[in-house]
Amino acid sequence: MSEQPVVTRFAPSPTGFLHIGGARTALFNWLYARGRGGRFVLRIEDTDIARSTPEATAAILEGLTWLGLDWDGDAVSQAANAARHAEVATRMLESGAAYKCFSTQEEIAAFREAAKAENRSTLFRSPWRDVDPEAHPDAPYAIRVRAPLDGETVIEDEVQGRVTIRNDQLDDMIVLRSDGTPVYMLAVVVDDHDMGVTHVIRGDDHLNNAARQMLVYRAMGWDVPVWAHIPLIHGEDGKKLSKRHGALGVEEYRDMGYPAAAMRNYLARLGWSHGDDEFFTDAEALDWFDLSGIGKSPARLDFKKLGHLSG
Ligand code: GLU
Repeated sequence: MSEQPVVTRFAPSPTGFLHIGGARTALFNWLYARGRGGRFVLRIEDTDIARSTPEATAAILEGLTWLGLDWDGDAVSQAANAARHAEVATRMLESGAAYKCFSTQEEIAAFREAAKAENRSTLFRSPWRDVDPEAHPDAPYAIRVRAPLDGETVIEDEVQGRVTIRNDQLDDMIVLRSDGTPVYMLAVVVDDHDMGVTHVIRGDDHLNNAARQMLVYRAMGWDVPVWAHIPLIHGEDGKKLSKRHGALGVEEYRDMGYPAAAMRNYLARLGWSHGDDEFFTDAEALDWFDLSGIGKSPARLDFKKLGHLSG
C-alpha cells in the first residue's frame, strides 16, 4: 500500500444547477478523502465556453456549501489552465508520443462518409501518423496521440472490476486542435495530475473516457489514479433520471426545507451501502465509507425515503 495521502476531486461542468447525481459524486469524493485525512479539491470544467456560465458555477458552489461539502483551496478553473494543457501536448509531440496531423475537417468528414457508405469502421486513422512532419512545414496541424494499434487497455476499476478495451477501438485522439486549443480529454488528465489527484470517483458514463485518458497518462509516464466509476442514478421505474421523477436540483430540496444532514444521508445511500444501516451520523459515514460498498447496478431514487429520513 502506498503512503501517499488521498486526494479526490469533484469536477463539474458549469452548465446548470448542482444535479442530484453530481451532488452524490461530490459527496462520495468528500467522504472518501475526509474519512482518510486526505484532500478534496474542486475543479470547474469550464472549457466549453458556449455552455458554461458563471451563474451555474455559483449555483454549484452554493449547493456544495449548503450540503456542507467543503473543499481544499480555491475552486480551480480548467479554462485558466489552457497554456499548461498546450505545453503538455507539445511535450507529447517532442517525445514522439503524439504527432502532427495535417488532415483537414473536410478530409476527415469525407473519410467518415466513405467508410459509412462502404460499411467500414469510421474510426479515423490519420495518414500523417508515420510521415515526417517536415514534409509539410507551414500547414496548420492538430496534435494527435499515437494510440497503440493492437493489444488491450485494461482499467482496474474499484467498482466495475477489470474493464478491457481493445486498442483497435481507440483512435489517435486529438489532444490539441489546430487553433491551439486543448481538448477536454487532455485537460482532465493534466489537471488531475497537477492537482495530485489519487482517486477519480465519478459517474460510469465516463468509463470509456478513462481508456482514452490512459493514453495520456502512459504517454507522459504519469501514475494512473485509482478509478471508481459509479453507476448512474435511475428513477423508481428503473429509467434514466429525468424531471418526471421529481426534483433534480439540490437547491430544490433545500427550498423544500429538507435539512442538509438528511440530504447527505440520503445521497450517501444512493448507490452505497453499509450492511443494513439506513441512518448514520456524519462521523459514522466518514468512518464507514469505502469504495467496496458501492453497488454495480444503478441506484434508484426513492423520494419517500428522503421524507422518512428528515421526518
Ligand atoms: N466535467 C465532467 C462532468 O461534469 C466530469 C469529468 C470527470 O469527472 O472526469 O460530467
